[in-house]
Amino acid sequence: MSLANLTNHQIRLAARPVGMPKATDWSHTTEAVTEPADGGIVIKTLALSLDPAMRGWMNEGKSYIPPVGIGEVMRAGGVGKVIASKSDKFAVGDLVSATLGVQEYVTLTADEFKRNGIFKIDQRAGTVTQWLNVLGMPGMTGYFGLMDVGMPKAGETVVVSGAAGAVGQTVGQIAKLKGCRVVGIAGGAAKCDWVVKELGFDACIDYKAGPGAVRAGLKEHCPKGVDIYFDNVGGEILDDVLAKITRGARIIICGAISQYNNTTAVQGPKNYLSLLVNRARMEGIVVFDYADRYHLAVAEMAGYIREGKMKSKEDVVVGLQTFPDTLLKLFNGENFGKLVLEVAKD
Ligand code: NAP
Repeated sequence: MSLANLTNHQIRLAARPVGMPKATDWSHTTEAVTEPADGGIVIKTLALSLDPAMRGWMNEGKSYIPPVGIGEVMRAGGVGKVIASKSDKFAVGDLVSATLGVQEYVTLTADEFKRNGIFKIDQRAGTVTQWLNVLGMPGMTGYFGLMDVGMPKAGETVVVSGAAGAVGQTVGQIAKLKGCRVVGIAGGAAKCDWVVKELGFDACIDYKAGPGAVRAGLKEHCPKGVDIYFDNVGGEILDDVLAKITRGARIIICGAISQYNNTTAVQGPKNYLSLLVNRARMEGIVVFDYADRYHLAVAEMAGYIREGKMKSKEDVVVGLQTFPDTLLKLFNGENFGKLVLEVAKD
């Protein structure tokens, strides 16, 4: 394939947002697609993973990964197809998962392979969008957060917030497979119905049903208390669950999406003394720490998919240029399932 006639449309970070990101925080640029260096490749982006973490990457300051610089192509994981190769590791036509950025093409040198976390994906294990969901970063987060930090035992009660989202759907299904009672927390009746009827959760609390809905729901659905809380949202919901934990409970701090667009200080847990009373533990996780064991989790999850024991739902929006608006769906709860931006058809 000749690269000479290809134009790469990109979306770059233009300004650090205050509160919810807005159109002027982005710039739209174009570049020619460059030939790969010896050992390098060119990837055509097919689908990008839109993640709540992107909001954090837009902020200045120390985190588990450096912020995206002003003027840089926005960081994004995705799946793409190799369209030019001077590498003996990847051939033209290979489907790969990597940090591609919010752009249509990326040219990588061999030195960049490790940093970009590139690996070939096997479509026999799952579809392109499943590789961004249950078999990808969110699935790995759910798997290792629950299994390594939560350490579920059959018969325990697991509560997961953001239950209908990418991480939450995986956490709840794994917990069910491990013999736990699973209660989700999600926004709205449609999402709650789906996690119970389609995914097999034991119950789901609609946190938008009115004041006190979470407390009342926990009382009703967790009569023996909460042994494991997988927290995706932080804020008041975390406080409500802290009030219901059992002795020796484990709380996995995976994320706090309710706080990501705050213009005031992050709301910390008020009920933290419940950890003391209950000899309980609250621990943060970063999925990348488990990268050397992803293959094991992928094999287990692919097995569940094959056996019809695990479902996945992706919310696919088409068009690179929609990125600034599409990203906002994560923060207003408009995404139903893993949010994926389709950039090109295979
Ligand atoms: P997701 O759940 O697919 O999408 C985000 C969802 O968050 C929305 O659909 C919405 O669902 C919910 N939400 C938004 N604002 C909220 C609020 N104010 N209060 C309560 N819920 C709210 O996203 P995801 O990719 O699976 O990520 C879930 C969490 O995991 C995020 O906090 C993310 O940062 C974290 N995460 C952490 C790691 C790690 O390594 N630690 C890795 C991946 C993801 P409702 O309609 O139910 O409100």
